[in-house]
Amino acid sequence: MGRAMSKTLISNTPEPVTGKIRLPGLSRAQISQHLADMGVEPKKLKMRTAQIFQWIYNFGVTDWNQMSNVAKPLKAKLAEHFTLDRPEIVERQISVDGTRKYLVRMAPGIEVESVFIPDVSSSGALCVSSQVGCTLTCKFCHTGTQRLVRNLTAQEIVLQVMMTRDDLGEWPTTFENRKLTNIVFMGMGEPLYNTDEVAQAIDILSDDTGMAIGRRRVTVSTSGVVPEIGPLGERTNAMLAISLHAANDDLRTQIMPINKKYPLADLMEACRNYPGLSNARRITFEYVMLKGINDTPKHARELINLLKGIPAKVNLIPFNPWPGSDYECSDWETIERFGQIINKAGYAAPIRTPRGRDILAACGQLKSESEKMRASEIKKMEKRRLAK
Ligand code: SAH
Ligand code: SF4
Repeated sequence: MGRAMSKTLISNTPEPVTGKIRLPGLSRAQISQHLADMGVEPKKLKMRTAQIFQWIYNFGVTDWNQMSNVAKPLKAKLAEHFTLDRPEIVERQISVDGTRKYLVRMAPGIEVESVFIPDVSSSGALCVSSQVGCTLTCKFCHTGTQRLVRNLTAQEIVLQVMMTRDDLGEWPTTFENRKLTNIVFMGMGEPLYNTDEVAQAIDILSDDTGMAIGRRRVTVSTSGVVPEIGPLGERTNAMLAISLHAANDDLRTQIMPINKKYPLADLMEACRNYPGLSNARRITFEYVMLKGINDTPKHARELINLLKGIPAKVNLIPFNPWPGSDYECSDWETIERFGQIINKAGYAAPIRTPRGRDILAACGQLKSESEKMRASEIKKMEKRRLAK
């Protein structure tokens, strides 16, 4: 990664004007309630809500004047009470591989990262955060070193998607060749410790008259909050990813303390019962490759045994280093051999190409304070890794 990363400060908007309610990111019901409170007459409420919902989520308007089917006096009233403004983008970084990382200030002290990962085809996934920080302390994860500040609201989750669309110029959402096609809850935080807001965000994102991101294009990744797995599936129909990383309890508890509370037997039981599970709707098991820890052929066979009977695919994630991390990434040949063993047992086991490492945007590297880290430190780390 010899080339310099691009780091652009793209906006410096002030905090939202106090007293005005921000509508973007709110649900249909919330918008309707606000319109009613403002005095929209009951018999027009449904129609008005539908119009405004579509302007916000299908067209992405940020200016009331763009709402061409809303009469002028009403527009003026709306502008008095509500804002269409987005929160402030504190920083946007673009990796040499096209990955974009945003640091957004949702409210004072509430800063979240989202990462857009363009694909080779004309698709791409936005990795969204569900919490600021995380209560869990998985040993290999940078976010795990940041204490939980608070859960994000559904609005703050949806805004991450809207702001990326703003930046990519992908409004209206019927825009052909749009790149933002998928959503993965793999940013900061544990989505299943914030299930209600995550579910509401998925409702808003998938609404047909808005952004219309199909529920099968939404993947929620969990470290294994067992009691929330079934309810998530029932409530959202989203695809499930499990951060597995080890296939025996001793090792998993060592690297993921949550395994003590919800051991593998319980976790796998919840997976087997995941609503809608089928060959067409498989569970993704994420497995981070840690050198000398979980990467031997014996570990691969253990994993195969564990997955027996579950429609599954395995995602092998090369460990992404961060300053102060204790682990190293397995050698490439080791990862390939591991993948081949899983493959032979009938499971797809792609190796996830690390994206955006130069801007600390890869899996597990997110942390709100990461912008404070010196770029030179990151580069040195990368050099050491590549020299191996
Ligand atoms: N809290 C949720 C979602 C966010 S983490 C979860 O744990 O599933 C997204 C994925 O990145 C998880 O699979 C996580 O285990 C993995 N990950 C964390 N740190 C990593 C690192 N340093 N290198 C590679 N993957 C990492
Ligand atoms: Fe939290 Fe997921 Fe990181 Fe574990 S891997 S510390 S659950 S964000």
